[in-house]
Amino acid sequence: MHELSLMVALREQVLAAAAARGARAVTAIHLRIGRLAGVEPEALQFAAALVLAGSLAAGAALVIDSVEARCHCRPCAAPFEVLDGMCVCPRCGAISRQLLCGRELALAALELEGLEPDP
Ligand SMILES: [Zn+2]
Repeated sequence: MHELSLMVALREQVLAAAAARGARAVTAIHLRIGRLAGVEPEALQFAAALVLAGSLAAGAALVIDSVEARCHCRPCAAPFEVLDGMCVCPRCGAISRQLLCGRELALAALELEGLEPDP
Protein backbone atom coordinates (compact mmCIF):
# COMPACT_ATOMS: atom_id res chain seq x y z
CA MET A 1 0.00 0.00 0.00
CA HIS A 2 1.55 3.22 -1.24
CA GLU A 3 -0.22 5.36 1.38
CA LEU A 4 1.61 3.48 4.12
CA SER A 5 5.09 4.39 2.83
CA LEU A 6 3.93 7.99 2.33
CA MET A 7 2.75 8.12 5.92
CA VAL A 8 6.01 6.64 7.22
CA ALA A 9 7.95 9.41 5.46
CA LEU A 10 5.49 12.04 6.66
CA ARG A 11 5.75 10.82 10.24
CA GLU A 12 9.45 11.75 10.30
CA GLN A 13 8.61 15.30 9.16
CA VAL A 14 5.75 15.66 11.63
CA LEU A 15 7.68 14.36 14.63
CA ALA A 16 10.76 16.43 13.79
CA ALA A 17 8.67 19.61 13.46
CA ALA A 18 6.81 18.89 16.71
CA ALA A 19 10.05 18.17 18.59
CA ALA A 20 11.69 21.32 17.21
CA ARG A 21 8.85 23.38 18.69
CA GLY A 22 8.82 21.53 22.00
CA ALA A 23 5.27 20.19 21.57
CA ARG A 24 3.99 17.44 23.81
CA ALA A 25 1.43 16.24 21.30
CA VAL A 26 0.27 16.73 17.74
CA THR A 27 -3.51 17.12 17.57
CA ALA A 28 -3.92 17.66 13.83
CA ILE A 29 -1.90 17.27 10.66
CA HIS A 30 -2.89 19.36 7.63
CA LEU A 31 -1.87 18.01 4.25
CA ARG A 32 -2.11 19.46 0.76
CA ILE A 33 -2.76 16.68 -1.71
CA GLY A 34 -3.04 17.14 -5.46
CA ARG A 35 -5.93 15.46 -7.27
CA LEU A 36 -3.42 13.54 -9.38
CA ALA A 37 -1.19 12.47 -6.50
CA GLY A 38 -2.85 9.06 -6.60
CA VAL A 39 -3.61 9.08 -2.88
CA GLU A 40 -6.81 7.64 -1.44
CA PRO A 41 -7.82 9.83 1.52
CA GLU A 42 -9.42 6.86 3.29
CA ALA A 43 -6.34 4.70 2.88
CA LEU A 44 -4.23 7.60 4.13
CA GLN A 45 -6.38 7.97 7.27
CA PHE A 46 -6.00 4.26 7.91
CA ALA A 47 -2.23 4.37 7.34
CA ALA A 48 -1.93 7.40 9.64
CA ALA A 49 -3.63 5.64 12.53
CA LEU A 50 -1.28 2.68 12.07
CA VAL A 51 1.96 4.61 11.59
CA LEU A 52 1.38 7.29 14.25
CA ALA A 53 0.32 4.90 17.02
CA GLY A 54 2.53 5.24 20.07
CA SER A 55 4.16 8.49 18.88
CA LEU A 56 3.62 12.13 19.83
CA ALA A 57 1.17 12.30 16.97
CA ALA A 58 -0.95 9.29 17.98
CA GLY A 59 -4.61 10.06 17.38
CA ALA A 60 -3.88 13.29 15.46
CA ALA A 61 -6.61 14.25 13.03
CA LEU A 62 -5.61 14.18 9.38
CA VAL A 63 -6.99 17.23 7.59
CA ILE A 64 -6.72 16.88 3.84
CA ASP A 65 -6.77 19.95 1.63
CA SER A 66 -7.32 18.73 -1.89
CA VAL A 67 -5.53 20.71 -4.60
CA GLU A 68 -7.00 20.84 -8.08
CA ALA A 69 -4.83 19.77 -11.00
CA ARG A 70 -3.96 22.38 -13.65
CA CYS A 71 -2.25 22.17 -17.00
CA HIS A 72 -0.96 24.95 -19.22
CA CYS A 73 -2.36 25.16 -22.75
CA ARG A 74 0.20 26.52 -25.22
CA PRO A 75 -2.17 27.49 -28.04
CA CYS A 76 -4.40 29.41 -25.58
CA ALA A 77 -1.44 30.56 -23.47
CA ALA A 78 -3.60 29.93 -20.40
CA PRO A 79 -3.95 27.37 -17.65
CA PHE A 80 -6.98 25.09 -17.33
CA GLU A 81 -8.27 22.68 -14.73
CA VAL A 82 -7.67 18.98 -15.38
CA LEU A 83 -10.85 16.93 -15.22
CA ASP A 84 -10.85 13.15 -14.88
CA GLY A 85 -7.06 13.13 -15.11
CA MET A 86 -7.16 14.28 -18.76
CA CYS A 87 -4.83 17.12 -19.76
CA VAL A 88 -7.07 18.23 -22.66
CA CYS A 89 -7.80 21.95 -22.97
CA PRO A 90 -11.56 22.58 -22.68
CA ARG A 91 -11.25 25.66 -24.95
CA CYS A 92 -9.31 24.36 -27.96
CA GLY A 93 -8.99 20.61 -27.36
CA ALA A 94 -5.19 20.61 -27.42
CA ILE A 95 -3.41 18.03 -25.30
CA SER A 96 -1.06 19.60 -22.79
CA ARG A 97 2.08 17.99 -21.45
CA GLN A 98 2.68 20.79 -18.97
CA LEU A 99 1.19 19.92 -15.63
CA LEU A 100 1.36 22.99 -13.38
CA CYS A 101 0.12 21.43 -10.17
CA GLY A 102 -1.90 18.49 -8.94
CA ARG A 103 0.71 15.90 -8.03
CA GLU A 104 1.87 17.47 -4.77
CA LEU A 105 1.70 15.89 -1.38
CA ALA A 106 2.95 18.26 1.25
CA LEU A 107 2.71 18.91 4.94
CA ALA A 108 0.83 22.22 5.18
CA ALA A 109 0.48 22.78 8.93
CA LEU A 110 0.45 21.11 12.32
CA GLU A 111 -1.71 21.73 15.35
CA LEU A 112 0.36 21.19 18.46
CA GLU A 113 -0.38 20.85 22.13
CA GLY A 114 1.72 21.55 25.19
CA LEU A 115 3.75 24.39 23.70
CA GLU A 116 5.51 26.73 26.11
CA PRO A 117 3.51 29.96 26.31
CA ASP A 118 5.26 33.01 24.91
CA PRO A 119 6.93 35.04 27.65
ZN1 LIG B 1 -6.32 25.60 -25.35
